[in-house]
Amino acid sequence: MISAVIPAYNESHGITEAIKQVVGVLSTCESAWEIIVVDDGSRDQTYQQICRLAQAEPRIKCIALSRNFGKEGAILAGLEYATGKAIIIMDADLQHPPNLIPEMLDKWRSGIQIVHAVKRSRKEDSVGKKTAAYCINKLISSLGGFNVNNSSDFKLLDREIVDIIVHRLPERERFFRGLTSWLGFSEDYIYFDVARRQGDESKWSFWSLLELSITALTSFTSAPLRIITFLGVATLLLGFFVASEALWSLLNGQAVSGYATIIISVLLIGSFIMISLGIIGEYIAKIYEEVKARPHYLVKASVGITGKKFG
Ligand code: UDP
Ligand code: MG
Repeated sequence: MISAVIPAYNESHGITEAIKQVVGVLSTCESAWEIIVVDDGSRDQTYQQICRLAQAEPRIKCIALSRNFGKEGAILAGLEYATGKAIIIMDADLQHPPNLIPEMLDKWRSGIQIVHAVKRSRKEDSVGKKTAAYCINKLISSLGGFNVNNSSDFKLLDREIVDIIVHRLPERERFFRGLTSWLGFSEDYIYFDVARRQGDESKWSFWSLLELSITALTSFTSAPLRIITFLGVATLLLGFFVASEALWSLLNGQAVSGYATIIISVLLIGSFIMISLGIIGEYIAKIYEEVKARPHYLVKASVGITGKKFG
């Protein structure tokens, strides 16, 4: 059996059409399938629309989260309730073309446990978004040591991988794209062009993208902390240099040079310290979140899900 997990947040514009297309593709290549749509606290008619679809087709199931937990939480909810031998994660806005599914399944049948569908182009995105995405991916890849370049959340995961993600990775903060490469099982890539977005604007604001990148970095690598240490050492060396210069001129009876030097160094070092505190703060905040061990999501309603307790 094949499961498709689809997180949806305020997608009432295009969700019905999107699900219909996924159903069409799944029916042609597999007889046993299920679609689990996770309504991530939408404030529009998304849930009602899926319920309508689910009444007509019992293989369509829906989980409604109690509020907007974010895409990562929604995906995790879907993974926990998916029962298929292979699980496909895709967006609800048809930006992840359903007609790639047969190709992904072929790769999976040939023994590959993680199939990534990678965006070939970002025609539709603005230059700013392209650059931001490029920089963030580069930064994460180089600091974290995992290749997340050009990755997207459109993936096929083998049952084994999903079990590991659900049961063996207790962390609260997740960054799926990096996590799957971290696992280290056999992976393969297929490429696609990003389709035009169905419906309205992207749900990601600048801040949510910034937050995603901070999560990606802090949940993956402690390299920023090490960079602080290096910066501290560099500042110390600079300090020695400036101090000996000052002492030298003092001993030679010259006035110590420059108000400007003092102001500049105080400001520079001050900002170094503040930025460093900020970075350390991010990590402490992450530890705080992990220690609280709150659930990743809460379910308020569901359609078609049986035999499992909601967490
Ligand atoms: N999404 C979600 N929760 C959120 C934001 C987005 O479940 O808080 C879903 C959304 O419904 C869509 C997918 O995540 O299915 C990708 O979102 P979007 O298309 O806005 O992002 P982009 O395509 O720009 O990466
Ligand atoms: Mg999208």
